[in-house]
Amino acid sequence: MNTIDEIKNQLDIVDIISESVKLRRSGKNYTGFCPFHANTRTPAFVVFPETGTWRCFGECNEGGDVFRFVMKKEGVDFREALKMLANRAGIQLEPLTPQKIERNEREDYLRKLLEEAVIFYRHQLMNTDSGKKARAYLREKRGINPKTEEVWELGYAPKSWDAVLNYLKNKGYPVKDMIEAGLLTEKQDGKVYDRFRHRVMFPIRNISGQMAGFGGRVLNPDDVPKFINSPQSILFNKSSILYGLDKARKSIRSSNQAVIVEGYFDVIVVHQEGFQNAVSPMGTALTEVQMRMLKRFTRNFVMALDPDAAGQKATLRGLEVARGALDHTSDPVFDSRGLLHHESRLQADLRVSTLPDELDPDEIVLRDPNDWEQIIKTAKPIIYHVLDSLTAGQDLDDPKVKSTIISQIFPLTMDISNIPERDAYRQQIARVLKVDERVLLDMVIPKTRKPKSRKKIQQTDNQPASTVSLLFNEYKKIDLVDQEILAYLSKLPESKYKIDRFLRSSGLNHLTVSDFTSTENQHLAKLIFDSLSQDDLDPVDYITLKVEEESILTEIDHSHPPAKPDEKKNSELRQLEETTRLVMQTRQLSINQQIKDFQFLQSSQNEENNGEQDTVLQKRLLDLIKRRGLLDRALSKPVNIK
Ligand SMILES: [Zn+2]
Repeated sequence: MNTIDEIKNQLDIVDIISESVKLRRSGKNYTGFCPFHANTRTPAFVVFPETGTWRCFGECNEGGDVFRFVMKKEGVDFREALKMLANRAGIQLEPLTPQKIERNEREDYLRKLLEEAVIFYRHQLMNTDSGKKARAYLREKRGINPKTEEVWELGYAPKSWDAVLNYLKNKGYPVKDMIEAGLLTEKQDGKVYDRFRHRVMFPIRNISGQMAGFGGRVLNPDDVPKFINSPQSILFNKSSILYGLDKARKSIRSSNQAVIVEGYFDVIVVHQEGFQNAVSPMGTALTEVQMRMLKRFTRNFVMALDPDAAGQKATLRGLEVARGALDHTSDPVFDSRGLLHHESRLQADLRVSTLPDELDPDEIVLRDPNDWEQIIKTAKPIIYHVLDSLTAGQDLDDPKVKSTIISQIFPLTMDISNIPERDAYRQQIARVLKVDERVLLDMVIPKTRKPKSRKKIQQTDNQPASTVSLLFNEYKKIDLVDQEILAYLSKLPESKYKIDRFLRSSGLNHLTVSDFTSTENQHLAKLIFDSLSQDDLDPVDYITLKVEEESILTEIDHSHPPAKPDEKKNSELRQLEETTRLVMQTRQLSINQQIKDFQFLQSSQNEENNGEQDTVLQKRLLDLIKRRGLLDRALSKPVNIK
């Protein structure tokens, strides 16, 4: 992920815009009066936190990301806006070094290789005889329906030493890259073979939905180990990925709760039955990095872990981590002796649910989804759970045991900021441990835990924030198409004329900067277009020079997307036609998104204005629909450029 995405992720667009615009919450979004045009009648300005964008549907008819807003509001250029926002996000702007470019390219390439493997394993599951057993297992034993299988791209690795090896070899991938991507295992003598054999395959994607690795589960109950994951690689770091988070993040935000389960099947089946806020760590206890990733979306966590003893232990470890990763605020309080000290309070609500009847989450939710809902709803605050776990099987008459338990549990009560609630917990502890509550308080001479310093956290893992991207939905898709167009144009800027001619012949507007959605892509588009209106340099040289000059902006991905394998075969003309089609596609995607955004605005206004509609807005919508019609028509025909 580049620095620009990182800045967008660190900053809350609602925070920034509400400094100058009075915003009102309306469902998931915010509306207000546009700061860029005079208007006090219709609030036609909308901020969409989920996509990190804003739009004025009134007179300006403009929108964009947080950079665009700051540029317009402060009257600064992109470079200046970038500096301001980087500063605010506490992110250092660093030039993209050749090493970094190389690493980014390597990652993209390995991801592509893994995507091929997803297709291969999927095909094995769906269309082969040997996949039959796996299909039956998923559907009959696990209750997974075909639609779910498709959504989670489940697959089957055949019982073979070289199935994926040969498949990818035929696709032109070298063996060493398959090893690096974690698909093959290399023996001491240099022989290589498929790492995953006769297993159900789970593609593992990072928070942005990019491929990171695979998990494989045995079909034959005698095979060991039951589960294997991809090995650690530049793509796969199991302590910083949460399975399912790319699909759960939206629901975690909207339900304002994250449910943590302990297995891939649990995540999948719980989602299938309608609870899409579940995620799972990678077969280990929850890590700090994972916890910090989650807390971008919610502060309410429920741990629904396996009922076995290992699960219980994992819960406790997970809780410790969770407490460490979450912020604490510090309140001055009086202790029982009237002395002032500071207690820290957890800015989060951590609960643990107890799963009944020795069942796993997927079994419960399949038995009855209402049971699952109830279990999550009645999850106990961690303190009760910890108390239960600590006291189970202990001799509570032994003073030593008592004091050990108190020292472990008491810090947890300090996390609770609600005083009556906290007192209730303390009374409960005193009751269970059969001690006087005052004794309990006196034992706890405020050992204020040192708040974890941010610096330290940043040193212990390499890419915490950078794994989070807000731009995950349509905008991400648009962004990728935009990048592809720009990559082509920066190699062949003059082809803009041919593209424009074609667009006009189809009744469409010529290519402009506003065809690109993100500010950084608009900026690069402008450079490319500028190269055509100057005659000092060859356009390509001009672009190269400008890009180098703006080394501060080099985090903009100027690197071209990796060439498709069949690209070489394509003639130049085919590439031009393909790019022209992409231009129309990106317009179509962005118009569709605008219409969707528009519908949101309309529905929020209908509630207020009793259905009365602003005529400017009506015209705007008609215009969008008309433009979409023209595009649909042009896209229904093959693109022929002479
Ligand atoms: Zn406006």
